[in-house]
Amino acid sequence: MKAPTDPKDVLKKYFGYTKFRHRQEQIIAHVLDQKDSLVLMPTGGGKSLCYQVPALIFDGLTLVVSPLIALMKDQVDALKLNGIKAAYLNSALSASQQSEVINQLKNSELKLLYLAPERLIGSDGEFIKFLQTLKVSMIAIDEAHCISQWGHDFRPEYTQLSKLKANFPGTPVIALTATADRLTKEDILKQLKLDKPAIFLSSFNRENIHYFVAPKRESYAQLLDFLKNHEGESGIIYTLSRASAEGLAASLKADGYDVLPYHAGLERELRDKHQDMFIKDEVKIITATIAFGMGIDKSNVRFVVHMDLPKNIEGYYQETGRAGRDGLKSDALLFYSYADVMKLQRFVEVESNEQQSRIMLKKLHEMAEYGDLRTCRRKYLLNYFDEEADNNCGSCDICLNDRERFDGTVIAQKALSAVARLEQKFGAGYVIDILKGSRSEKIREEHKQLKTYGVGADLTKTEWSHYIKDLLYLGLLNKTNAQFPVLRLTEKSLPVLKGEEKVMLYKVSETIYQSSGKPQQELPMEASLFDHLKLLRKRFAVSENVPPYIIFSDATLQELATYLPQNMEDLKEISGFGAVKLEKYGEAFLEKVIEYCASRKLKTQMDQKQRKRKRKSNLNTPTKLESLRLLREKNTLEEIAEKRGLSVSTIESHLNDCVLEGLIDILELMPQALIDEITPAIMENTVPGIKPVKEKLRDDITYGQIRAVYNFLQCKGVV
Ligand code: ADP
Ligand code: ZN
Repeated sequence: MKAPTDPKDVLKKYFGYTKFRHRQEQIIAHVLDQKDSLVLMPTGGGKSLCYQVPALIFDGLTLVVSPLIALMKDQVDALKLNGIKAAYLNSALSASQQSEVINQLKNSELKLLYLAPERLIGSDGEFIKFLQTLKVSMIAIDEAHCISQWGHDFRPEYTQLSKLKANFPGTPVIALTATADRLTKEDILKQLKLDKPAIFLSSFNRENIHYFVAPKRESYAQLLDFLKNHEGESGIIYTLSRASAEGLAASLKADGYDVLPYHAGLERELRDKHQDMFIKDEVKIITATIAFGMGIDKSNVRFVVHMDLPKNIEGYYQETGRAGRDGLKSDALLFYSYADVMKLQRFVEVESNEQQSRIMLKKLHEMAEYGDLRTCRRKYLLNYFDEEADNNCGSCDICLNDRERFDGTVIAQKALSAVARLEQKFGAGYVIDILKGSRSEKIREEHKQLKTYGVGADLTKTEWSHYIKDLLYLGLLNKTNAQFPVLRLTEKSLPVLKGEEKVMLYKVSETIYQSSGKPQQELPMEASLFDHLKLLRKRFAVSENVPPYIIFSDATLQELATYLPQNMEDLKEISGFGAVKLEKYGEAFLEKVIEYCASRKLKTQMDQKQRKRKRKSNLNTPTKLESLRLLREKNTLEEIAEKRGLSVSTIESHLNDCVLEGLIDILELMPQALIDEITPAIMENTVPGIKPVKEKLRDDITYGQIRAVYNFLQCKGVV
């Protein structure tokens, strides 16, 4: 059998997928062109395929450097199940197993070899010398941010990798990471000495993850509430300390949950066992410190909860990113209180390294800012990674909670005057105590005489804390940046205190946890068939001693249970069935589906799958069509805006959506020459968003025009 050389064919044959994601296709083409690259893609984005596909097309061997020894076996097992010759070398292998791998290498029997950096560079370069005798076609460096001190996960052994380019001149290197800010990015390029590298930045947006923040108060009760919406689903609950991971597991167990703890204080063996059980779906929930997860590639994690504040956004994003690798809807929930920020300040300091301490403190404060947001959480996260985002994602607590506003002038006046009477010297907690008329010993006697003492007793502490956040957000109050932040008035405060200005506040409402429920598909899935298929998958997993998701992901089983394929031809259309898996498992899964359909007189829905592929998103709402109608009546954009009482940019976006839908010809919007000017700038762009495209073009070309061309190209399937 001749090996395919076209990346698309390789994707289908070995992995059973029909389409590339993100920028996988461009990255693979670049690597095949023997050029260096740096790939930034979010966790679960599909980085592995960027080197696995070229590895199968290149003649020789691909080296994969990874710090995650625990993950290597899984990755190699997964490749083998797809009929790919791969192996790993690490300390977990016996001497005889290692020499077997060496023999396979000598006989050119392997396509991919996974190694830890110390294994590659260590033993005085002996191993490098050996590798130099082989045909090494490509080197992939996973988790490349570990090389940089600027990152949040610096590993000294990675710095040795700077020798690689000299050891393997001319061999293309691909560095990959899911987390790198600008400094880290530059450091990776510099240290690895990449040769004219292309940087491929994918959007960091994980659309299927929904973000929630809840005040850290009675968090256990809130957690139970949340878990009710996730019955039977797999999830990770992070805590700051080992003791709380342990305690939480015990409480949840007592409340009937299927849960185990994981932290560095457990015996190695027990820890590995718990992780293994989680991966194999033998336990649903893990309560863990951040020690857990680096080695986890489980695709059906439906929720990630943080009981305590993480130390930085990078860590938080990576941890939440462990949810929903299969692309199905998943939830991330954070319990937040400012007390956590105070507590963590000590922990993030790096001993006798003032500069690093400063970096880490700044990162902590950015994390706190996320907890305090009154605007879209997703936008904040994406902006953090230098990416633009819409103002409303529709799937974080802020955006979902389209909160009602009310005239809160009196509330604002009470709060502002309390701050004023306390001479702007106290934090939010104390101000609230004064407003509530707290009898606590903390309250100074003289403050009990203040006029504002007790004027806010009608509201709860939570409500007050909520409104103070609103006032901060509205700029009517300021918070100092000190270790114990103090509330201050701003220039906007006075008119409110004088009763010259009204203040609209947001009503306090409960955080809504939507159940991640089942996938967002138009077709209902046969839930009990899905369960049968999971059992079948489990049987194969046990007999082959691999985690179930390596056999098939949940997404694949859901497709089976939705589209009900009836023969091998149908099965080829199901995502995840590559040639080897089709042959090995196809019949067994098909049999289950057919049997199920026969017993319930169900028909196949494969035609829906084909139709779905052709169908485009439905954007033609009446308002957009109205704008289109006016355009066709030969109105200019400005005239349409005027007639409709909308802004020009809104009209522009209506019409651009029509371009995407194929409802209008782009030439109705702009001349061919302009299209020809904008198109190459879009095609050559390697970073997400249209801002970089705009920067490359003449100043008078607008975002709207670029967006129109982009939509046109997208409609034609070019981008
Ligand atoms: P990362 O290393 O970026 O965190 P992975 O490489 O582990 O992500 O990929 C995440 C999941 O997405 C895997 O289950 C993988 O098989 C799947 N995947 C990757 N690329 C595609 C694709 N083009 N089509 C369908 N599934 C894909
Ligand atoms: Zn949002």
